[in-house]
Amino acid sequence: MSDDRRAFLRGLVRSAAGQAGAPQEAQPAAAGLSDADVERYARQLVLPEWSEAAQLALREATVLVVGAGALGSPVAAYLAGAGVGRLGIVDADDVEVSNLHRQTLHFTPDLGVPKAQSAAAKLRFLNPEIVVEPYQARFAPAMVEDADLVVDCSDSFATRYEVNAACCAARVALVEGGVTGLAGLVMAIRPGDTACYRCAFPEPPPPGAAPSCAEGGVLGPAAGVIGSLQGLEAIRLLAGLDGALLDAFLHVDLHDHAFLRVAVTRRPGCRDCGAI
Ligand SMILES: [Zn+2]
Repeated sequence: MSDDRRAFLRGLVRSAAGQAGAPQEAQPAAAGLSDADVERYARQLVLPEWSEAAQLALREATVLVVGAGALGSPVAAYLAGAGVGRLGIVDADDVEVSNLHRQTLHFTPDLGVPKAQSAAAKLRFLNPEIVVEPYQARFAPAMVEDADLVVDCSDSFATRYEVNAACCAARVALVEGGVTGLAGLVMAIRPGDTACYRCAFPEPPPPGAAPSCAEGGVLGPAAGVIGSLQGLEAIRLLAGLDGALLDAFLHVDLHDHAFLRVAVTRRPGCRDCGAI
């Protein structure tokens, strides 16, 4: 990249920050973006909604992605690409051939490789400027304690409620998501301030009422839509952008392209967030 081009981009970044009304004190002078950062993140830096402060907030953030499958693949790829500084990837399973139609971080040569390792390898190729930490393990509540934000990309209701409870207890921001068939939902949560997943859905569906992906099937692009929305919500919360899906969930039915935003409120007696 030429010096002229770099100077042009830096000018755009400053201009975008000014238009967004970003406070000057939010832009640290000592630890600003390098020329390489400006080049790598140029297409988001020039957004009117974005700023150098937003980019630095991502760089300083630690995000835990629970599940490196159909939802975790787009979430982790977009967060790595966007410049989240430290990304933990939790998954206990190995890559299977039936995963490959929807789990876009894994390829045929990865069969039998732990998903956390397979995902981490691709994410490091994608962005060597960030730290990627694979955890080949089942989710455990202690994993959320160092995180600024958790994105739940698990595929079971048991894990989903476990992640919600852990994030509420530690007051760590959470982006929930789920998908089966051609439909899914996304919800952003600031525990203690906004409705949690259990506030919206006090109990899991009875056994058999909500088939898993293995039982009911799922189309890859449908999972990609839900995962992309989760990635967007995560970036929105980290960068402080307006319009987060707080006190609401978005139900997406791709049979007829219906997006429905459903308002929810905190439940005073919620088992997970009622006492915080
Ligand atoms: Zn709650």
